[in-house]
Amino acid sequence: MSAATKPRSTVHETRRLTARKPEKRVVVAKELGYCWGVRRALEIIEEAAESAAPIAPIGDVIHNPQVVERLRDRGVEGAASVAEAAERGFRRVAITAHGMGPHLAGEASSAGLELIDTTCPLVTKVQRLAQKLVRQGYFLVVYGDAYHPEVRGVLGWAGTSKSAAAKKIADLPWNAPRGARGEGVATPPRKVAVVSQTTKNVDELMAFAQQLQAMVMPEGGEFRLCNTICEPTSERQNALKRLVEEDHVDLILAIGGRKSSNTARLAEVGAALGVPSHHIERPEDIAPSWLAGADVVGVTAGASTPDDVIEAVVAELASQGYAPPEGGIRPVDPGYVPAY
Ligand code: SF4
Repeated sequence: MSAATKPRSTVHETRRLTARKPEKRVVVAKELGYCWGVRRALEIIEEAAESAAPIAPIGDVIHNPQVVERLRDRGVEGAASVAEAAERGFRRVAITAHGMGPHLAGEASSAGLELIDTTCPLVTKVQRLAQKLVRQGYFLVVYGDAYHPEVRGVLGWAGTSKSAAAKKIADLPWNAPRGARGEGVATPPRKVAVVSQTTKNVDELMAFAQQLQAMVMPEGGEFRLCNTICEPTSERQNALKRLVEEDHVDLILAIGGRKSSNTARLAEVGAALGVPSHHIERPEDIAPSWLAGADVVGVTAGASTPDDVIEAVVAELASQGYAPPEGGIRPVDPGYVPAY
């Protein structure tokens, strides 16, 4: 599993020494686990699976192996493409919460398959925004992982060659600010806009945008940043920051599937705050050496991590002498709808 450790900040060390309680205990972030969009997508797909024939989501319906396994038992099993789903005899395919490009509806229709769309409305918002920015003449940069289905889907909806996915400036086709001249110099066009994969880290997005802005703005360039990191992702990252500041944790465990981008971000946020942080998928991933000297263990979980997996990690820690969190894992507010 990925492990991220950095030296602790002086501020954190001082607080820990003055405020640490003697007992070993687990504290959980106030916001963790299933986000609104994933919960919504699972409800749609589970309801659809109950009422009729099996469904093949194109790609993982969710980046969590335990949930994928559970859904398989209900007749929901991923396929790599519409063609593969049709070949395996599925009559229904689904778009996952991450969304997909517009080609998918056409492929499903041509194959005579029913299409169930569980795209998170917050992702749909980014797809529509990408189209609008392209119409307005911007070169579109999607800040995110080029391989991720959400990023590929947004680029698909943008529908132009004047677009790129990038996580760092070196991923872009330019190597110098506008106005620079010389052999091998590639400069940005006059209008560049950035949207973000919804699960990215806001601090890293800002750092990337600042560098890109400095390349685009000379000689009358126009730069636009649209922060499309979703509210549930920001809340999880903020809740983790509060956990470090208020509960003075010695160790952070970020629980989520190995492919879960937002869980990886949570581990990065914890490490950036100076706390040893590890991305784990299940209780067995906890290395005994991590717990040596760790009295307060902070637990967070990505947007696709079900409650029972979080509870299993807490139970494992309890078996090793850590008091479980007061009040358990946070209650779900069924009426919550994020701003979008
Ligand atoms: S992480 Fe955000 S955008 Fe992605 S499914 Fe959850 S709520 Fe929607």
